[in-house]
Amino acid sequence: MSGVQPTGNLHIGNYLGALVNWVELQKHYEAFFCVVDLHALTQRPDPAALQRAVREVAIGVLASGVDPDKSTVFVQSHVPQHSELGWILTCLTPLGDLNRMTQFKDKSVQQPENINAGLFTYPILQTADIALYRAERVPVGEDQEQHLELARETLRRFNFVYGETFPDPQTVKSQAPRVIGLDGQAKMSKSKGNELGLFETDEETLAKLRAAKTDPARLRKSDKGTPEVCNIFSYHGFFTPAAQREEIAAGCRSAQLGCVDCKKMLAAHLEAVKAPIRERATALREHPARLDEILAAGASKARAAAESTMQLVRERVGLRPAP
Ligand code: SF4
Repeated sequence: MSGVQPTGNLHIGNYLGALVNWVELQKHYEAFFCVVDLHALTQRPDPAALQRAVREVAIGVLASGVDPDKSTVFVQSHVPQHSELGWILTCLTPLGDLNRMTQFKDKSVQQPENINAGLFTYPILQTADIALYRAERVPVGEDQEQHLELARETLRRFNFVYGETFPDPQTVKSQAPRVIGLDGQAKMSKSKGNELGLFETDEETLAKLRAAKTDPARLRKSDKGTPEVCNIFSYHGFFTPAAQREEIAAGCRSAQLGCVDCKKMLAAHLEAVKAPIRERATALREHPARLDEILAAGASKARAAAESTMQLVRERVGLRPAP
């Protein structure tokens, strides 16, 4: 089980950090992937923009290779049990546990004008997302590990208080848990404006790469470079075959290869990955009914699984159905 926020268009960081992993996991496990629009409300998005973003992110997930015949792909708010279990788990979570969450502190700095309670209880809703499907494996980036630890503690507490109900969710790390942005400073994110968009054209990618930071010691083409300190070279690590990467590293060290050419090579390898994704995304945008159908089927399957868990949870905590 894993989720992606509908905030802005997907970027290469989302693709490498999550989607590649999802595509692989669906081959081996029963998988639930959702667009977490309830989580997005903590940022108070414009309602129409939120609806657009939910569809665009769902399109990105499917175009990246998540197969709705293998995985359950759905929108979080289409399964009301997420909110219901979220509340039940909120009543089991000590304030002290939430106070330790570093992401809440970071978010409070990022959006000081809107430090809402949802930001504080955000990891509990994440716990509900996982627990509803009794997930055993949760693919997350390294910045979410603290939340997953809290989820484990909360579910163990539930099992202790009400009897064995939930498995212990294990972290599945992706091969690229942290992708640095084009500024070479922070994790790639739309909010920092340092992202390479997954749907961007070849020209847009190249324009962004041209402005991206490289080895700071390499001021002229004749300066010898150190690929290990260059962010562009780290991207080659994700997209360029190993043999060519070695040639690039040698060319950089000997100053035979200039940064402009190095970036053009990267753009070409990126385009080879992005072009088919863009094509599939365009086909889905042109057939909105197909997307509706996939999300409706996903929601229906997810609701059935979630309701089966909730019947047990309600029974265990003492909530009885209306007579
Ligand atoms: S040649 Fe490539 S790896 Fe070397 S500094 Fe320039 S962009 Fe970075």
